[in-house]
Amino acid sequence: MAKVFSKGRFCYDVHSFPPVTHSLSIDLHTHSTYSDGVLTPAELVRRAASRGVNLLALTDHDEIGGLAEAALAAIGSDLLLVPGVEISTVWNGQTIHIVGLDIDVHAPALVDGLASIRQSRGERAVRIAAQLEAAGVTDSLPGARRHAGNSAAIGRSHFARFLVELRHVRNTSDAFSRYLGAGRVGYVPPVWPDLARAVDWIHGAGGQAVLAHPDRYRLSPRAMQSLFEAFAQSGGDAVEVSGDGRFKSSAQVRLARQFGFALSSGSDFHAPGQHVADLGDVTEIPAGVPAVWQRLRTAR
Ligand code: AMP
Ligand code: MN
Ligand code: MN
Ligand code: MN
Repeated sequence: MAKVFSKGRFCYDVHSFPPVTHSLSIDLHTHSTYSDGVLTPAELVRRAASRGVNLLALTDHDEIGGLAEAALAAIGSDLLLVPGVEISTVWNGQTIHIVGLDIDVHAPALVDGLASIRQSRGERAVRIAAQLEAAGVTDSLPGARRHAGNSAAIGRSHFARFLVELRHVRNTSDAFSRYLGAGRVGYVPPVWPDLARAVDWIHGAGGQAVLAHPDRYRLSPRAMQSLFEAFAQSGGDAVEVSGDGRFKSSAQVRLARQFGFALSSGSDFHAPGQHVADLGDVTEIPAGVPAVWQRLRTAR
């Protein structure tokens, strides 16, 4: 696949792609206020369009409620919206995120499954708040809720923002390393469905299942291999290459080839800021490996 131009991000020449332009700037992993992003779905779509993105997936954590607003905002723009979601799952005791792309938002198993995860999020939030309380941080549940655009999908990022507001920590990354990360005082082990179930829900909704940001899981090379194996056995379709705009995760690309996965790429955008990838700032996919967007119905 030829790279046709690059303006701080990568665009692909896709002749099999009739839709909008001859070149494609993609971003297949982003968040809005429906989970732990700070832009509303409409603001997200407008920012992506203004940055030249023309294939965008909104992939909120365990939530598809923002997709209708995003789809409305995309009407009349040069941007195609891919309906997506990022599902929290557990494998081997560890949280693994599976992005679903091109999902039918009315598919019953997916809709019910996501609702049950959001219920678990609510219960986990109560436990996080109790543990923080025992460590001397009071009223963190209402505090986190204030930071959540959608309190039905409450998560650790909202607690992190509350801890920053209280000046217990300087930034959200400190909040994770001191309070919310694995083994810290506010940490609750994963309460999510297993990986294979999430893949089934995505397939039942006609979508493609993508293993999100494998480079972010703290796994030995052998454990990473087992994760890829488990994802292949579950019927997974693609693996995300993440990083900062280079072929950063070459080990993962090698594994993806070995298991026959397509590749996907997304910024995992949550908020505008100086040190995080902005919309459309995605890692280039190496030539010779199928790209997941070639398989998306939305993009045909
Ligand atoms: P949750 O799904 O509620 O457990 O929260 C996971 C989210 O927390 C991720 O999607 C990130 O947005 C955020 N997160 C995880 N680790 C960190 C970190 N070290 N620094 C900042 N944000 C993080
Ligand atoms: Mn997040
Ligand atoms: Mn994730
Ligand atoms: Mn994400």
